[in-house]
Amino acid sequence: METIARVAALRERVREARRQGQRVGFVPTMGFLHDGHLSLMRAARAANDLVIASIFVNPTQFAPHEDLDQYPRDAEGDALKCAENGVQVLFTPTPEEMYPSPTATWVSVDALTRHLCAQTRPTHFRGVATVVTKLFNMVQPDAAYFGEKDYQQLAVIRRMVLDLNMPVEVVGCPTGREPDGVAMSSRNAYLTSEAREQAPSLYRSLQAARAAFAAGERDAGTLRMQARQTIGAQSALEVDYVDVVDPDSLVSFEQRVGERAVMAVAAFAGRARLIDNLRLDPGQ
Ligand code: AMP
Repeated sequence: METIARVAALRERVREARRQGQRVGFVPTMGFLHDGHLSLMRAARAANDLVIASIFVNPTQFAPHEDLDQYPRDAEGDALKCAENGVQVLFTPTPEEMYPSPTATWVSVDALTRHLCAQTRPTHFRGVATVVTKLFNMVQPDAAYFGEKDYQQLAVIRRMVLDLNMPVEVVGCPTGREPDGVAMSSRNAYLTSEAREQAPSLYRSLQAARAAFAAGERDAGTLRMQARQTIGAQSALEVDYVDVVDPDSLVSFEQRVGERAVMAVAAFAGRARLIDNLRLDPGQ
């Protein structure tokens, strides 16, 4: 595996691959890799000739009070994991390489970023959309791999690619989970043992909602209330939101839930914030 830190060297490497007619798959990450990330790399490996992953803790998606400085890092361990999971080029730019000057240009996917996680993180998604646009312009991949765990992020990227005619296939990959159902996340490292013990309640609440949906429940208020109660009963967790939304537009169902729906939940757990989601219909 090659590790490249400079944009110019990355472009040269991609040009060489293109000259050889190779299909390029790309997996952007912020590092501190777990098996959820690695499953994206394996999916990219299976469908492309050249797999490029990036590790960049992107400052523009963190608000000033958030955890940019404390975000967990493990450069050596990450490089090993990438190499073992099919990555051929690891792009690890510095903040100065990515943002030589403060960005004056932002990519905002407005309609999808007014609710769910955007309520507590109002500037987060424009940072994500902007850095992903920059990375797409640097890597120019044929396909890019994102986790369904960050469902709103995936929907935002899909919509951005559609609206701005970006020539990239966006591939959503299933959420990697711990044996007790907790969605893997780099930020799980922040959890106290009590919060970690209670964290499976998010997935439990989603599974219960899916069972209720399968049994015919279509009242959005009932589905939301049941999940809120399950998570809210945990002493170390505080519900941020529970919502049932259209899988593509992310529009909330206020009363009757449609036949295609995603339930998304988030809870504060000390300095961590847990998020999870599940398709309620058997669509995927
Ligand atoms: P991050 O490093 O948190 O920015 O995540 C990088 C990519 O990995 C994003 O596309 C995430 O959605 C994806 N990802 C994070 N956690 C998981 C997980 N548990 N399962 C699948 N993909 C994940």
